[in-house]
Amino acid sequence: MNEIKGGCLCGNVRYETTQAPLMSAVCHCTHCQKQSGSAFSTNVVVPAAGFNVTASTLATFNDVGESGLSVKRHFCSHCGSPVYTELDANPGVAVLKAGTLDDPSWVRPQVHMWRCSAQPWVPVAEGTVCFEHNPEA
Ligand SMILES: [Zn+2]
Ligand SMILES: [Zn+2]
Repeated sequence: MNEIKGGCLCGNVRYETTQAPLMSAVCHCTHCQKQSGSAFSTNVVVPAAGFNVTASTLATFNDVGESGLSVKRHFCSHCGSPVYTELDANPGVAVLKAGTLDDPSWVRPQVHMWRCSAQPWVPVAEGTVCFEHNPEA
């Protein structure tokens, strides 16, 4: 995985990075459920250095995480796709929504976060590392 590219549904927001991803994680938190309109979000964490966004319609929802720190949820104001998130708790990374990758087929989430708010019908593979809240909590 040498180069990651992706973008929103309408194509106004595009991103790419030449850096290797650090990890992939499923997040079952209620904020991700709301923002994704789904049961969870699937996230790919990449280094902020080398991550570049080209966007004419990028908008930001300033969310607040459980830590009380800012969580900037970036989305396309034209088509509504959630695209990536920046965390004040971890400014060295960008958290990409895996569904916006041009090729998400390689993603294998190693971790499930916020298991405590997971929907009961969502299967979690045997041996998956799970956290009830955030990993650092
Ligand atoms: Zn868009
Ligand atoms: Zn979440």
